[in-house]
Amino acid sequence: MSKENKLHLIESARCKSCGLCVIACPKKTLGIGSSLNSQGYAYVTQIYPEKCVKCNICRIVCPDVAIGVIETEL
Ligand code: SF4
Ligand code: SF4
Repeated sequence: MSKENKLHLIESARCKSCGLCVIACPKKTLGIGSSLNSQGYAYVTQIYPEKCVKCNICRIVCPDVAIGVIETEL
């Protein structure tokens, strides 16, 4: 499955703004935004989505299952 068949998703409502994914991302594509989710946390966003290599390390480190890569048929 190539990188093109993978979609990077962020479930912003689950994010607790811990920053673990921001630190772990090898391409430094992630950052904590200024908007708050329904829990009152400033959630993570992809600030450089074009640099994401869909490695899924962010999913492995996120304790709240809020971020990661899924495979698509496209
Ligand atoms: S999939 Fe990899 S490169 Fe993309 S945001 Fe997650 S850790 Fe960073
Ligand atoms: S590791 Fe999960 S909870 Fe923490 S900032 Fe990243 S997406 Fe949010």
